[in-house]
Amino acid sequence: TSQPDKMDAFWMPFSANRQFKKKPRLLASAKGMFYRSVDGREILDGTGGLWCCNAGHGRDRITAAVSQQIETMDFAPTFQMGHPLPFLLAERLAAIAPDPLKHVFYTNSGSESVDTALKIALAYHRVRGEGQRTRIIGREKGYHGVGFGGISVGGLPNNRKFFGPLLPGVDHMRHTLDIARNGFSKGLPEHGIELAEDLERIALLHDPSTIAAVIVEPISGSAGVVLPPKGYLERLRELCTKHGILLIFDEVITGFGRVGKAFAAQRFGVTPDLITCAKGLTNGSVPMGAVFASNAIHDTFMNGPEGAIELFHGYTYSGHPLACAAALATLDVYAEENLFEKAIELGDYWEQKIHELRGLPNVIDIRNFGLIGAIELSSRPGAVGARAYDVFTTCFHDKDLLIRVTGDVIALSPPLILEKNHIDRIFGILAEAIRETA
Ligand code: PMP
Repeated sequence: TSQPDKMDAFWMPFSANRQFKKKPRLLASAKGMFYRSVDGREILDGTGGLWCCNAGHGRDRITAAVSQQIETMDFAPTFQMGHPLPFLLAERLAAIAPDPLKHVFYTNSGSESVDTALKIALAYHRVRGEGQRTRIIGREKGYHGVGFGGISVGGLPNNRKFFGPLLPGVDHMRHTLDIARNGFSKGLPEHGIELAEDLERIALLHDPSTIAAVIVEPISGSAGVVLPPKGYLERLRELCTKHGILLIFDEVITGFGRVGKAFAAQRFGVTPDLITCAKGLTNGSVPMGAVFASNAIHDTFMNGPEGAIELFHGYTYSGHPLACAAALATLDVYAEENLFEKAIELGDYWEQKIHELRGLPNVIDIRNFGLIGAIELSSRPGAVGARAYDVFTTCFHDKDLLIRVTGDVIALSPPLILEKNHIDRIFGILAEAIRETA
């Protein structure tokens, strides 16, 4: 594959490409920790594609499973019939999901997982005779994909402002971003637990018995990689339990080992009622998402007095054979190579190296957890994100390192297969780029 001469006909107004100063540089192939661009250069992947490829690229086992599956059976509907793979996969997923979230519903993306979780939450209350619970609470700066459910509960202004009116009955708690900057300290922020009380404020404002669910990312990605203050998620859990509100963790980026356990819920020791995931489920190979639901939620629909309740929700491609085959092979790779533990084993070295960037020009905060990293730069006056884009451009175009930019934050989420030498290279290149673009 080579770079096409004309690239204007492909209309991508919502993609970030136009924000970059240079023509997009196209990627042609990928293996392990590296992409290869159409101009033949090897690019170190500091972002796991887009928080997806936790086992690195081009894993033979996944390739073989998907190839074999497409030859055996390309597609099968899952209404009224089905095929074995979704069942086999559900067993495997239940084994790694936190107790008691032992039931799984398949989608095709993170956005669909979010919509599905919101619908399950609303239906759950209705089936239990609590139909007045219709309100949903998200957070300012939250990101939950781009479906109407996700943008309604999400709180990034640019994702919402052209699309209203959105879902009614949604409120947003304050995010922890502004007061939970780490100030270069390591580990979870010491300050900010009091922001969990914003849930109490909103609950009391409306009457807690009208609230169906609260949705948060345990670690927010798009808001600029924000770690939960110590005790914050625990307090949200307490308040939800107290008021009979379901707690949804959106683990689209934290799922599948990024923080050292299968899910952040396990790493933080806080159990939600629903978990959304996607990305790492298939190592990014075939689109797939999933929602984990607690046994109580599952039983409410399945073991009602009149038997299973017909909850009409599902996608043509829910439990797609190729996606299931990819996910099963992905889980094999994660398990055989103990990749979830890698995020803890390498975590100290990652932390040490990322903090060596302290003191570089414009660097105002550094955050890390598991194999997630964030370097926050000060805003250039009137141009949020401009500095970080300059760093991106230098890294990607001149120094062959792929990073991600969100606002003024450089976000890192490398494949969990990385070694110390890759960590050295990532931060070596970043340090150069930050200096050169200052
Ligand atoms: N939720 C979160 C927390 C995400 O980070 C993302 C995507 N980055 C999504 C949902 C949406 O996932 P998708 O793009 O697969 O729809």
